[in-house]
Amino acid sequence: MTMKKVLFLTAPRPSANNTPLHLGDNRPPQGIGYVAAYLEKYGHKTKIVDLYHFGGEETEGNPGVNQEETFHRLKIDLDFEIQSFEPDYIGMYIHTLSYYKALKLGSELKKKYPEIVLMCGGPHSTVLEETIPDYFDYVVVGEGEYVTRGIVEGRERNRIVIGVRPEKMDELPWPNYDWFIDKPYNWKLRLFGYDVLEPVISLNTTRGCPFPCQFCGVRAISGTGYRSISPEIIIDKLIEYKNKYSLKGIYFREDNFTTDNNRLERFCDLMIKREVGLKWACESRVKNLTPSLIKKMYKAGCCGLYIGVESGSPRMLEYMRKNETVEDFLEKFPILHDNGIKTYTTWIYGLPEETQKDRRFSDELLEKLNPTSYDKFVYIGIPKSDFYCQLDENSEFEYKELNGIIYPKGYLSLAQQLYGEDDPRCKYVERVYKDNDVSPVSIVL
Ligand code: SF4
Repeated sequence: MTMKKVLFLTAPRPSANNTPLHLGDNRPPQGIGYVAAYLEKYGHKTKIVDLYHFGGEETEGNPGVNQEETFHRLKIDLDFEIQSFEPDYIGMYIHTLSYYKALKLGSELKKKYPEIVLMCGGPHSTVLEETIPDYFDYVVVGEGEYVTRGIVEGRERNRIVIGVRPEKMDELPWPNYDWFIDKPYNWKLRLFGYDVLEPVISLNTTRGCPFPCQFCGVRAISGTGYRSISPEIIIDKLIEYKNKYSLKGIYFREDNFTTDNNRLERFCDLMIKREVGLKWACESRVKNLTPSLIKKMYKAGCCGLYIGVESGSPRMLEYMRKNETVEDFLEKFPILHDNGIKTYTTWIYGLPEETQKDRRFSDELLEKLNPTSYDKFVYIGIPKSDFYCQLDENSEFEYKELNGIIYPKGYLSLAQQLYGEDDPRCKYVERVYKDNDVSPVSIVL
């Protein structure tokens, strides 16, 4: 087998005033890190060029969109990277957020470097592969490790390549943090109020989600089967990273680090027994966290949980099939806080069928839970959650963009009230509506 050279790119992100979406929290791109590591394991040479963080438009910091301080940008000369590395393949990671820029860049690359095979993957290619133009020679739909190797080694014949989900996550090589560690990513846990804890690296040790939340597109991307890396392997890696990078903490930036109580308990036991001495935070649901487990999590270093409460209305929680109740939140938040675990919460406003009364329930619950920090978002249809498919099928939206994003009825009106009329997200949507003669529906927050 001949060694191939593969240059992985993240598509550049738009400026804050060119998107209705949150730009993210500036963590290293682990998805392409995993695919690159897998190819390296089989003897190929890879390089990662993160245009999403270091190649997008220069914009002023926008406190309404970027919670983190204005992100320093590195200037990347992509032609230099390509001409010096001389890749056989370019693999572009495309998120819906960067779809338009991905198309522009993809078409430029194909014209300029026709001899290089151009592949793409990532969440957007997975859920809306039909929106990817022909100048992408291969479109990876789903998880990319195995099939990208298949493409590079000449075994894939079709342009649309359906990803094969790794069931044994323990066998996957980990992304090489040497690629990321010297770059100005977000290495802190400010979401939870920690400013001095640094560096905190983000990890992704699970995939898939067994829960049916109707607003969420994760199941369409990584399926309902929950797959995870064993705690024993994670702990070995943490100790290695702690020594190598003088690590202070970990942020498990994945959808469900705490879903499996047995795994979570084993992880905590090992953190304590092996005296790993790192703080950690993760995304979590609260229903399955018992008081004794919460205590143990704190003892094992847990310092923050990112919790999607989403609504304070029992009716809406039921409607969105959250499988968690107002009572669950009211019971668990004081236990978390009493045990020294800080909380960041997200709230969705403007879901289909939501009333003003539902929104007041959310305001009241937010006050009662008193999380360390929170963000409120107006619901926007990201392909292909259940709500998205429902709205799309019945054309129940104000506008649908070419990138697939759906603005439900009343979106702009609610966003202007929740974010403020001058918020760049609102200004962007106003421009889009004006250019397309959309008459927004008015809703009172
Ligand atoms: S919101 Fe979280 S728990 Fe619900 S489906 Fe999405 S990933 Fe799963």
